[in-house]
Amino acid sequence: MIGRLFGNVSQRVPSLLYRVSLMMKPQVVFVLGGPGAGKGTQCSKIVESYNYTHLSAGDLLRAERAREGSEFGQLIGNYIKEGKIVPVEITINLLKKAMEETMQKDEKKFRFLIDGFPRNEDNLQGWNNVMDGKADVKFVLFFDCGNEVCIDRCLERGKNSGRTDDNRESLEKRIQTYLQSTQPIIKLYEKHGKVRTVDASRSVDKVFADVKAILDKEG
Ligand code: ADP
Ligand code: AMP
Repeated sequence: MIGRLFGNVSQRVPSLLYRVSLMMKPQVVFVLGGPGAGKGTQCSKIVESYNYTHLSAGDLLRAERAREGSEFGQLIGNYIKEGKIVPVEITINLLKKAMEETMQKDEKKFRFLIDGFPRNEDNLQGWNNVMDGKADVKFVLFFDCGNEVCIDRCLERGKNSGRTDDNRESLEKRIQTYLQSTQPIIKLYEKHGKVRTVDASRSVDKVFADVKAILDKEG
């Protein structure tokens, strides 16, 4: 009886150890740039060619806003329309949950593009509090694009996107938020040599050629 019991345990232990050894720490690339810089467009292209999962903070917040029964739906909706940054507790939990769910489904999917995060000091602190030691941030992929180009692209996108913030009034606020809150975060990472900058004002293909060169070098 005892022998059978031990037998079963010892058979189970290697497979457990094997599973744990396969669980990699998430490898993260933060993707930043102004509204309309092309972050989402480039992340979709990266996912086609590289083993990355794209998590957009904005998309996760819009999905939470739309989720029936969400206690934060209205609050998120107001922040988005005003181009303001949603409190980090909400965003970080959505990101953490999405990362965990992805890795639980397939433990080989441990590479993440986190798009639109960290957008301010509060975001960065939230990340450090919740994720420090639990994920490795490899670098920041920065899509550098002039404000006017960004605004024009979002207005064009707004013709079909159905987004409440792709209009001139929201965009002025989003650009201000980007300049005041997000650029200092990019500068902070720059000081640590962790920013890879791409000129995002060019065509999608030209931008992607530079992105590929970065990813091929950095993995
Ligand atoms: P972000 O995720 O940074 O807000 P998107 O990827 O959604 O930006 O792009 C914003 C809009 O600009 C979309 O309508 C997209 O099709 C378009 N766009 C993206 N990259 C380029 C580019 N390099 N040149 C021209 N238009 C672009
Ligand atoms: P995006 O889809 O990246 O253009 O984001 C749209 C809006 O979602 C932003 O203007 C913010 O209101 C909100 N948002 C996106 N990312 C974040 C974030 N990291 N923290 C808080 N709010 C965010």
